Amino acid sequence: MAPSSLLPKSRKYILSLPKSSIDSLQQGRMAGLPNESAAYLFGNIAEREGKIMIHVEIIIPARLQQATPSSFEIDPKDQYLKLKEMEKASLELVGIAHSHPGRQFVSATDRHFMKNPGPFTKICWLIVGEYNNAIEIGAYYIVDGEIHQIPIHLHGKNGA
Ligand SMILES: [Zn+2]
Repeated sequence: MAPSSLLPKSRKYILSLPKSSIDSLQQGRMAGLPNESAAYLFGNIAEREGKIMIHVEIIIPARLQQATPSSFEIDPKDQYLKLKEMEKASLELVGIAHSHPGRQFVSATDRHFMKNPGPFTKICWLIVGEYNNAIEIGAYYIVDGEIHQIPIHLHGKNGA
């Protein structure tokens, strides 16, 4: 079992990803190896039947100013520009994705950045890894001050 399976789970929040994003997440991960890579999740958040749907419309690779096999640091200028650009399309930053060279799980570093004030504290974290030659993804969100794993739904068509 992945270490993340030890985290509490919440069903109040749902991360909804385009089906086509799975391939691009995997490609981003491969491109970053042996280091981590990152991408912005742009979309909208809507409440439906008491659940919060984090709906991702588009995933855009992030330019990093630093990356190691266990950490990543996004170029703040790149982040500013991408946010401005997406604002015109009425899309907000609803999540941040990053990849691990190995399995997906919330590392001590991830935990630090999720829980301490910073640019990505209040949004969903999507972690992309690999296990048995298959992509492995997990979505995490702070619920009542603690990191919870949340379900992932896929929407739309397959393919790019
Ligand atoms: Zn991580």
